[in-house]
Formats: sequence, structure tokens, C-alpha cells
Amino acid sequence: MFEGFFKRLGGFKDSRSAAVLISAVFVVVVLLASVFIHQAQKNYLERAIGVSAQNIENTITKKTFDIIGAIGRMGTRWQKNNGTIEQLWRHDASQYVKDIDGVDVLMWIDSDGVLRWSEGRLSVNVPESGFNFFQHGDLKEKLLLSRESKRPEFSKVTKLPGDNYTIHVFYPIWNADVFDGFIGARLDIDVLLSSMIQPSDSSGFVLAATAGEHKVFTADGLYGIDGPQKTFTMNMDADNEGWDFTVYPTTEVLSLFQSPLPLIMALSGFLIGILFYLTMNSRIKAKASAKLLSKEIKRSQQMESQIRHMSKHDALTHLPNRSYLNIYLENKIKECESSGQKIAVMYLNIDDFKQLNDVYTHQLADEVLKIIPGRINQVLKHNSMIAHMGGDEFVICLSENLIEEKMFIYAEDLLKNIRKPISLGSESIRITASIGVCYFPHQGHVVGELITKAEHAMNQAKQIGKDVYTIFDESLESSSLYKAELIQAFNKGIDNNEFEMFFQPRYEIKSGDMVGAEALLRWKKDGKFMSPDSFLDVAEDSGLIVSICNSAFNKAFEQYQQLFNGNPPIMLAINVSAKQLAHPDFLNDLFSMMEAHHFPSEMLEVELTEQTLIENYESSLATLNALSSAEVKIALDDFGTGYSSLSYLKNFPVNVLKIDKSFVKDIHKNESDLELAKAIIAMGKSLKMEVVAEGVEEQKQLQILANEGCQQAQGFYLNKPLPFADFYKLFNHIDNSADQSY
Ligand code: C2E
Ligand code: CA
Ligand code: CA
Repeated sequence: MFEGFFKRLGGFKDSRSAAVLISAVFVVVVLLASVFIHQAQKNYLERAIGVSAQNIENTITKKTFDIIGAIGRMGTRWQKNNGTIEQLWRHDASQYVKDIDGVDVLMWIDSDGVLRWSEGRLSVNVPESGFNFFQHGDLKEKLLLSRESKRPEFSKVTKLPGDNYTIHVFYPIWNADVFDGFIGARLDIDVLLSSMIQPSDSSGFVLAATAGEHKVFTADGLYGIDGPQKTFTMNMDADNEGWDFTVYPTTEVLSLFQSPLPLIMALSGFLIGILFYLTMNSRIKAKASAKLLSKEIKRSQQMESQIRHMSKHDALTHLPNRSYLNIYLENKIKECESSGQKIAVMYLNIDDFKQLNDVYTHQLADEVLKIIPGRINQVLKHNSMIAHMGGDEFVICLSENLIEEKMFIYAEDLLKNIRKPISLGSESIRITASIGVCYFPHQGHVVGELITKAEHAMNQAKQIGKDVYTIFDESLESSSLYKAELIQAFNKGIDNNEFEMFFQPRYEIKSGDMVGAEALLRWKKDGKFMSPDSFLDVAEDSGLIVSICNSAFNKAFEQYQQLFNGNPPIMLAINVSAKQLAHPDFLNDLFSMMEAHHFPSEMLEVELTEQTLIENYESSLATLNALSSAEVKIALDDFGTGYSSLSYLKNFPVNVLKIDKSFVKDIHKNESDLELAKAIIAMGKSLKMEVVAEGVEEQKQLQILANEGCQQAQGFYLNKPLPFADFYKLFNHIDNSADQSY
């Protein structure tokens, strides 16, 4: 969202400068707005005080004139009546005092300044008749000024006992042309002004007044507070002495107009600006790391598909390789089991290819190999799959109705087509091939069995004289054991303790230190050690693999006990098949054996293939998690030949990747094998897994693996799998001549 916005803004070096600018602009705008609001509040308050002061001034003026007018009317009546009767005057005066707020006392002062009559609101402090005003300098001065100007005159402010400020108004009166003295009024300033202005709480403003140095009036005791105010001066008579009035807002109004809103706005604006910047900044950062992550994921995925492709195809002929063939044939078997179709597996081997290699160059021999798939394809266009098994061997899978009937034609045509001369540069080369055929389902229904039988048939064809094809015949297998016999032999073997482990040491490439060994199953049958490849399929199929391996594992843990005796422990890697892993007693048996022989679980590594994990995803995951919590290491065996899926690596607690020996074999000759090994090493590194190369047969291979950062290796170059006695000697540096290796 922000990205698009920034793009539209344009001209920025990066998103971060845009974020800074937007945040800064936002903060400035909010600050300006709060200053503006603050100023507006101030202006409005000043205007309101001005209006209020004006109203108060008008009221005071009007009310003062009302009082003067009332006194004036008494004077006029005096004149009209040619003087007045005391009783009448007193009646008038007491009425006025009652009616006009603030008028405290009304007096008649004669022309000599002597008080003659008085009517007061309060009984206190009313001057006695006979009081001579002329004896008080400043009062006399005002009286004479009033007489002379014929206008009412205000006295100075007097403070009476009891804190009341008062002021006098003198109004000159004439009877015809005879000066008859003054009507005098004493005003109580507090009452007068309080009556003039509205109650402070409703108007929101209060008043204070000073006359000369006297503070004559303050409302609500607020006089003297700091803040906005308005002053005005009033002088209603002939002298130069006036009053100063000050109008203030009440605290409520003040707090209303001086609300902290602008400050809050400024602060929150500032905070929002900062938050905005921080949010955008973290978004920008998150976006950048997401980009990096997706790049990383893409890279891993590319690596994954690269590994998958390379691992399934042969670099020379671009045909599917052995591992692809295994998966293909397995699926095909499942498909044909339900459809009832038959499959023919043809094993094709070029005759005397070694000679071809010797006579011509390697490159030329490779060119010949590249031509073979085309020749096969010319004959078998449909429903066939050709795999390159390595070297000069190819396997063709065909599934078709009446395949057995058609085989005669197909095989003859294939041989014929391969026989055709091959022109390579100036050379014209002639080759022949031998083919062995085996059928699913009646000659075998397991991948390994079908391929082995087809190979047997091909070897038979070679023996017959080459350039022929042979169909597998059970009698060809007379030398090998039948399945039922094999199972019987297994049971006997278990009873007689014929199964044991050979140990192939594993080394850290950098230091050359032995870090452990892989236990490889051997069957000592009739005094000869048999390799697992020759019996494992049947053992797995019959379920006897569990008992066979358990007896061999148990022996291995026991042997390792002797090895550990006084030495720092080394790691033991064991191979576990799908059948074994899925067995309900697997974990229990394994942990019991370890416990019985005091084998530390962190020294055990369980090697599994991806295929094994996939076969029973849920239960495999649970078993692996249990192993992992017991600190047992998990290694992915034959890595590169299966799915090479990143998701398996991530979902299962895998610690070690073992690069399959088929990729190590030509690592020093074949660019694509090297690339594949590199990709696996890189993948292992990025997933923090240890990478082990297996099948190292030459120094050159080890050197390349070391250069590429592969951590560990095992293989014939380093050591062949050894019987325990030899392994023990090697480990204890007793005697290195291991002669019984296999
Ligand atoms: P694997 O787990 O890939 O074991 C490595 C095989 O490569 C072993 O074959 C070993 O002898 C062989 N090897 C080691 N170094 C080299 C080398 O430098 N060059 C070549 N060409 N080969 C080398 P072996 O012992 O015949 O075992 C074959 C397979 O049988 C094993 O492959 C493993 O999948 C299975 N296997 C072995 N022992 C057990 C076992 O105890 N339990 C189970 N379930 N399977 C086992
Ligand atoms: Ca292994
Ligand atoms: Ca392996």
C-alpha cells in the first residue's frame, strides 16, 4: 500500500525519506493548527471581555444617571414647592432610599454646609443633623464646585467603619433665585456596583473598581489575577477624578477559552507523526526482509527442483536414471496390478563396450551411448520408458497387451537396429547388444526382483554368444535361492546368530578424525558374507527384516560397549527400512537395546530414505519426533535419489544429509554431478544440517568435496565396511591391516 503511495510521490531516493517527509509535514501541519486554535481562543476571549466591559460601562453609566436623576427630581420638587416641608421631604427621601439600590442616606445640607435633615437605609453611621460639611476641606471643595457649576458633584471615596466604601453625590438646589443648599446622597459602592452588574456566574465576567488608591470594589475576590482583562475609566462630574474599572473573565470562562486542546493536539499530533514514521519504517523493514525471505525461498525452491531434475536424469544421455526407473516401475506395477496388464522389463547391455572404450576415445564411446536411445525409440515408440543405468546399460519398460507374444518381434528389431553402422566423424562403428527380458507379474512383482531377473537373463544372453535376447527362465535361477527357501534360511539364520554388522568408518574431512561408523548388515551364510542387496527385498517383503535387523543391532550395541570402554564415545549410524520404522515395537525395541548396553542415545544416528518417510507420513513423523526428543540424530540416506523435497526436510527433524554415492562416483568427471553435490551441500548449510558424502572411492573426489564445504565422508577410499574385530583395531590404532573387509 505504502509502496504505491511512495511511487506516486516520486522523486524520493527511497521509501524511508518519503516516510520522514510525510511524518514531518504532518507534525508541522498539526502544530500550525494548534497554534491557530490557541490564537483564535485568545482573540475570542478578548473580544468577549471587550463586549462585556462595554455592557458593564453602559449599565453603570445608565444607573448612575438614574440615581442622579432621582436626586435631581427631589431638587426640582424643592424648587416647585418654594422650599419644602420637612415631613414631605422625609417621606420622599425614605421612599428613594428604599427603592434605589446603593443609596444609603439622603440628606438636605443647607447653604452653610450644615446637615439639616437626613433619611437613611441603615441606622448606623448616619451623620447627625448639625454636622458641618464645610468643616471637611475636601467635602467643602466639592460642595462649592457643585454650587458653582450647578451640577451634581461626586465626593472622593470614604471608608466607613465596617469596611464599606461610600461616596457622596451633592446636588445644588435653589428656591426661586435663593440658593437653598444641597440634596446629598451617600452611596454604598459595594451595593451600588453589585446591583449594576449581572451575577458573575451567568455572565462569565467579573468587575473590579479602583478610585484613586482605593480598591473600592472586587467581585468574587478575583481581583488582581493574571490574565486577559479590559479596563475603562469613568468620570461623571466636573472634577478630574474618575474611577478605573477592570473586567475579568471568571475562572470557568478562562479555563474554557484557555483549554489545553491546542496543547493536547500539538502533543498528540507530534506523537502520531512519530508513530506514523515508526509504523512506516517497520513496514518498510518488514517488506525488505519479506523480499529477502521470498528470494531465499525461491532460491531454495530452485535448488530443490534442480536437485530433483538432476537426480532423476542422466547427464550424458538425458534419460531417466536408476532412481527414476525405480519410482516409475513401482507406480507402473501398482497401475498394472489393478488393470491386469503385463509389463516387460528389458535389460540391454552393449556388447564389448570396454573394447570400444579402449580402441576409440572415451568421448567417442560416450557419443555411441548417446545414439542408443534414438535407436531404441525407433522400434518402441509407445508405452515404453528407457532408463540409463550407467555405463553401457539401459533398461526398457514396456506395458502392452499381448506383450509376451510381441516380444519376439520387438527384441529382434531392437537388435537389428542397434547393429546398423554408426557414423561418427570419419569413423563408421558397428556395435551389438545383449538383451534380457523379465515379465511382471508372473516372473516377479517387486521392482528390484524384476530388474535383477532381467539382468540375469541378459547375462545369460552374453553367455550364449551376445547379440541375442533371452527371456528369464526360473531354471536360470537354480543357483540362487527361491523365495520360500530364502525365508526358511532367514529363520535359521536368526536362530544361529548369522546376522551381524560390518562397520564403515565415517570421517570429518577437515580434520581427518573418525567421528563414527555406519553399521551395514551382513549375513554369514555357509561361511560367506552376503551383502544385503541380495536378500533385503525378500527380507523386507516377508517382514523378517525386523527380527533380522534387531538381532544385528543388538550385537552392534554390545560391540560398541567394548569400543567405548575407556574411550570417548563415537557415533553409530544404523539403517532403518520402512517396514522397520512402521513396526509398533520399533521405538520400544531400540530404546531397550540401547539401555541394556548402556549406549548413549545422543551417539545414535538413524539413517532413513525419503521414500521411507513418505510411505507412512504421520506415523513416521511421530516416531522421528520421539527419536529426536531422545537426542537421537536423523539422517536422510541416499539423498538426491528420492524426492529431494524441501518440505520433507523442513517437516521432519532431520540433522544429516547423506549425498548418495551415485553422485559422488563421477563428481570429478561429470559437471552435473558436481553441481548436484554442490546444491545439496548448499541446501544442507542453509538448513543447518550436516552433509555427509558416501561412496568416496578416490582422493580426487574427497578433495572436491572438501573444497565445496562438505563436512564428512565415508567410502572405500577411506575404509571399506569392516568386521567388528578389524574396526576395533582400527579405532584403537592397534593394527591397520584390515583384511576381512567386504
Ligand atoms: P546404504 O545405506 O546406502 O549403504 C551404503 C552402501 O554403500 C553399503 O552397501 C556400502 O558397503 C556401500 N559402500 C560404502 N562405501 C562405498 C564406496 O566407496 N563405493 C561403493 N560402490 N559402495 C560403497 P551394502 O553394505 O551392500 O548395503 C547396501 C544397502 O543395504 C544399504 O545402502 C542399505 O540401504 C541397506 N542396508 C545395509 N544394512 C542395513 C540394515 O542394517 N538395515 C537395513 N534396513 N538396511 C540395511
Ligand atoms: Ca545408509
Ligand atoms: Ca546410502
